[in-house]
Amino acid sequence: MTPDPVTTDRPASRIERALRTADETRVIELGSGAIRRTGRVFADLFDSSPALVVADENTFARAGEAVLASLREAGVPLAADPLVLPGRPTLYGDYTNVTIVRERLAALPGAVACSIAAGTLNDITKLASGELGRPYLNVCTAPSVDGYSAFGAAIAIDGFKITRSCPAPEGLVADLDLLRTAPQRLTATGFGDLSEKIPAGADWILADELGVEPIDPVAWSLVQDSAREVLLRPEAVAAADPDAIEALSEALLLSGLAMQATKSSRPASGAGHQFSHLWEMEGHGLDLEPPLSHGFKVGIGSIASCALWEVALALDVAAIDADEVVSRAPAPAELERRVRRAVSPAFADEAVVASERKQLRGTALRERLERIRRAWPTIVARAREQLVGPARMMELLRAAGTPHHPVLIGIDMERFRASHHAARMIRTRYTILDVLADLGALDDAIDRLFAPDGFWGRHPEP
Ligand SMILES: [Zn+2]
Repeated sequence: MTPDPVTTDRPASRIERALRTADETRVIELGSGAIRRTGRVFADLFDSSPALVVADENTFARAGEAVLASLREAGVPLAADPLVLPGRPTLYGDYTNVTIVRERLAALPGAVACSIAAGTLNDITKLASGELGRPYLNVCTAPSVDGYSAFGAAIAIDGFKITRSCPAPEGLVADLDLLRTAPQRLTATGFGDLSEKIPAGADWILADELGVEPIDPVAWSLVQDSAREVLLRPEAVAAADPDAIEALSEALLLSGLAMQATKSSRPASGAGHQFSHLWEMEGHGLDLEPPLSHGFKVGIGSIASCALWEVALALDVAAIDADEVVSRAPAPAELERRVRRAVSPAFADEAVVASERKQLRGTALRERLERIRRAWPTIVARAREQLVGPARMMELLRAAGTPHHPVLIGIDMERFRASHHAARMIRTRYTILDVLADLGALDDAIDRLFAPDGFWGRHPEP
């Protein structure tokens, strides 16, 4: 087959390699003019299944006609008129919208959704299709999330966002001409989501060295190699430089594919994402217009994580008194009391379970402490190579046009400080927060960060 002249081949080849590790997504068309191949991709994947185009008013205005023309040209039958959800107020990723898409699809036997979507509507269509056991294809409209190619969808139920499990799209069309002209806010969101790959990588190194969760080298390089290139060019991303938007889009797609391959968000998500998950579970910013994006929360989590890492890297781990740490480990009742004090009653039960599951005591804690002590010099060396400092992370986000201070996303410093305690309690994933907790040093580290001469003490406002 002769290569299509409008495809740029550098990203395509990396994506092709990554697709070999994916078991759900079969095709990703990334390149300039890729939207014109939507119909052909759809027909190749789903034979003669009819398409239901799903969009919102904004995405339909940007790409609806081009998608319909391409489907027509490839001879794909339309199951019905396009389902176009209202764009204003901004489309909201809640379960009501999943029901709307699912019911429309269910009424059209054999129809396959062809969504024209950024993060929110892609997740809605992903879950609606998944619930019906049908595949779908998405035409990406902004480089705003790494969730396009991931399994699972972040959907709010009763005002709390949670991740529901469902398969990734079988096909993705990522037209660089469309992605390049996405609103700046969405590109900045994608940059924020990607920023956490740096501290998340350090968290994975930590889990790897402690034998908690080994690094998968393929998933690691899918995420890390491409993310770093983009993150060090924030000005180019902010200016919508074509190469930078291409690299950002590619990095986000690769990150999703890494999660698809490992069936885990570990390759792309560490403590920084736990801050964002916490605020999402608290419903923070859902009432804003537009709602506060995932990537904006993650960006702040990235700075928080880099700051925690900075304190940890300066610890004298050899001097820690294991007997004293073991004697201070909270008993189950005390741990439960602390968790219930720290998190919202709405998700306190699951936070108690997650916290208890990773709380070590007695011999197990003693062994963990010994393992940390032995591995610490290697952890420090590997993490130093991986990380940037919190001030640098702040600067990268600012330069990309992504919020670079908690106050800018409506989290005041008191709440932000409390989030440092609560973020650890909602997930079992082992991160910088956990190694500090195991060492009996988490409360001290947080105090230090918020002391007048600590990182956050020195940055009380943007
Ligand atoms: Zn994310």
